[in-house]
Order: sequence, then C-alpha cells, then structure tokens
Amino acid sequence: MHTDVLIIGAGAAGMMCAFQAGRRGRSVLVLDHAPKLGGKILISGGGRCNFTNTGAGPANYVSRNPHFCKSALSRYTAADFIELVRSHGIAFHEKKLGQLFCDESARAIVGLLKAECDQAGVRFELGCRIESVARQSGSGPGRFEVASTAGRFTTESLVIATGGLSLPKLGATGFGHELARQFGLKVVETAPALDGFVFAGSESAFFARLAGLSIDCVISCGGLSFRENILFTHSGLSGPAALQASLHWRAGEPVVIDLLPGHATLDWLFVKKREGNRSILKNLLAELLPARFAEAYCERNRVSGLPLPQVSGAALEALCVALHAWELRPAGTVGYSKAEVTRGGVDTDELSSKTMEARKAPGLYFVGEVMDVTGWLGGYNFQWAWSSGWAAGQAV
Ligand SMILES: Cc1cc2nc3c(=O)[nH]c(=O)nc-3n(C[C@H](O)[C@H](O)[C@H](O)COP(=O)(O)OP(=O)(O)OC[C@H]3O[C@@H](n4cnc5c(N)ncnc54)[C@H](O)[C@@H]3O)c2cc1C
Repeated sequence: MHTDVLIIGAGAAGMMCAFQAGRRGRSVLVLDHAPKLGGKILISGGGRCNFTNTGAGPANYVSRNPHFCKSALSRYTAADFIELVRSHGIAFHEKKLGQLFCDESARAIVGLLKAECDQAGVRFELGCRIESVARQSGSGPGRFEVASTAGRFTTESLVIATGGLSLPKLGATGFGHELARQFGLKVVETAPALDGFVFAGSESAFFARLAGLSIDCVISCGGLSFRENILFTHSGLSGPAALQASLHWRAGEPVVIDLLPGHATLDWLFVKKREGNRSILKNLLAELLPARFAEAYCERNRVSGLPLPQVSGAALEALCVALHAWELRPAGTVGYSKAEVTRGGVDTDELSSKTMEARKAPGLYFVGEVMDVTGWLGGYNFQWAWSSGWAAGQAV
C-alpha cells in the first residue's frame, strides 16, 4: 500500500502534522502501537491538559541549539492553537502564569485533533507494531518502506512523532532515537526531566518526615530561578518548583531554595529579640512556614527547644541564611516512570528548523518531543508539539 505521508506516533505532534498535511491534499496514514489516540494528552495537566502557554517563546525551551525552535514557534504560535481550540467551542481558563487548561477534560483536545484529522481524510492504524523501516534507492513516492503488523507501506514522507522515553507504561519507547541512529543522525544524550528529585542518606529521611507538605519558594538551578511550590515526598522533592528545576539540573549540581522569598527573616527575628519575645524558635518560625516544617528544620539545626533570647545572633544568622539559600544536592531524579518529559533527543543540527526534515535523509522528518527541544513546565511542551507538527505538516 502506498501513502504520500506516513506518520509513526498518534500523539500531539503526530496528529497536528497529520491534519495539516491532509488539508493540503496529501494522503496521510498514522501508525501507533498504542490502542488509543493521544494517551499522554488524556492524562496531561491532571486530566485537563495544559495545552499551551500564552507566553510561549524560545526562552522557555532547553536545547543544545536554543535558536532551533524560533522559526516553528513564530510560524505557529500559542495564539494560533488557542484560535483552533475556540473554533471547536472548547471552554478553557488560565490557571496561572499563562498556562491554559480545558475547563472540562483533556478528552476535548484529543476530540479536536481527531475531528480535524477526520475532516482532512487522515487514516489511523492503532495497536500496530512497527517491524522495520528501510529507505529505497532514489527519491520519489516510494522512498521509504515501513513494515508493520498492519501491513507493508511505501511512502514519500516519513514522519517520526514517537515522543520521548517518559512514561513507558503509556507506550513511550526509544523508537525515534534508534531510528535516527539507523539513518546516521546524532542523538543528544537523554535524561528524565520535569521530574521530582530524590536524595540519599539523612536528607532522604528528613524529607520523608515532611511528606505531603507544600511550600511556596524560589528554586534556583543552572542559572535560572522559578517561584512555585515545592512538595515534600517520601523520597525527596516534587511539585512544580522541583519539576521546573529538574529540567535545568545536571547530576552532581546543587539546587538552592529560598523558603521565604522576599521576607526579611533575620531582621524580623532580631526585632522580636530586641522586643524581649520569649517564644520558642520553632513556634516563631511556624508563623512563617508550616509548623511541621518549622519543627523539623529547627531540630535539624539544633535550635529546636530554645526560646529566642537563648539563641545567639550568629545562630539566628546561620539559620536565616539556610532558610533563604538552602543548598541541596539531589542524588538524582525519580526517572522516566514519573518524568513528564525527556530532555535531549534527535540533535537539532541534523534537522531543518523550517520543515523538521533530516538533512542527511531527505523525506524523513522528526516532530515533537523526540527531538532535542524540551519545554519548561506549563504548556510549553504541547506548544512545541503543535508548532513542530505544523511546520512539518506544511512540507511533507
Ligand atoms: C503525566 C504527564 C503530564 C503532562 N502534562 C503536560 C501538560 O499539561 N502540558 C504540556 O505542555 N505537556 C505536558 N506533558 C508533556 C507532553 O505530554 C509531551 O511533551 C507531548 O505529549 C509530546 O508530544 P509528542 O506527540 O511528541 O509525543 P507523545 O504525545 O508521547 O506521542 C508519541 C506517540 O508515539 C507512540 N509510539 C511510541 N513509540 C512507538 C513505537 N515504537 N511504535 C509505534 N508508536 C509508538 C506512542 O504510543 C504515542 O502515542 C505531560 C507529560 C506527562 C507524562
């Protein structure tokens, strides 16, 4: 069987590319080994899909080549996708920081993509295993042959939209990276990102004691700072602040947390001391931070049971420095079983930023998370899927 465009991966980027190409009159077939469309979209954003970010721009992406994403992001913008969402009558709201979520359910976004694909005549084969991909000699309509459990297909344009390694239980595989290598393309080392941190030894026990607590903080890592919540877990730190930081973290590096951003804690404590306040330090700190944290933190710093007058100025200063610049060295991140995305992937130097086509293998395209473009937490990864899928959809 022949098709003009064959797309492997029926996720966000694959479906966007599919209906863009279909609208241009191309015959399009999408293959996926998962039994249903857009599995990751369905569970994203807590089931409401944070489908874009109104502020999405190149600065919100991590890549070895930070310029690569500029072209696609400027040609298919957050405003373009919002327009599409509106045209399908899907209600949405901004949660915070430009993050747009469906009011009802992420199913609406999968429904939108499926409806657009149906209208553009896109065909799907789900639950289909890819057995081999080969390039035929010469160019033209039959330049790739894909063997699968749904049959053998020849195609002129082969689009790899198989995503990253995150969430193997949802069908994530390294297929796209392996295929890139098969065609002689470089792959930037991958790592789980937008993921929680885990800690070793005494730190791990300290976090376990605080499991379930959430604190608004500023977290800094790799030269960037984010103001969000951290969440203590049994093995370490999670929550949006930790997830953001994990994208910029490299093994062995510290992360620094300001637990009381903008608060002059040392001055506040010195004023209380001058006023003759006799409160126990942990109770005073509990006015600023969750009581369970204040208690554990004071114990750890050996100032737990002391009333304020008995705590030296130097000890207060040390405590406040640590509260505002708490330096932690994670042992690692949780891993692909929990990470929202994969950092790294197909090296963008191998691809055209305009069309996503591989320079060394004309007719072969990569879209979405499979490549070395990773967005921050907050709708940026879907925007990359839409923008890169759109760009390839105009060219295939
Ligand atoms: C829990 C969670 C929540 C998230 N929430 C958000 C959010 O709210 N906002 C946001 O912007 N991003 C979010 N993300 C990230 C976002 O889901 C991804 O960046 C995005 O889905 C990438 O789109 P994609 O099309 O490149 O890949 P995917 O959506 O992962 O699609 C890849 C497709 O390829 C298929 N596939 C893989 N290997 C093979 C193979 N060997 N053969 C055949 N088919 C294959 C898969 O079955 C899948 O259908 C979240 C991720 C997770 C894990």
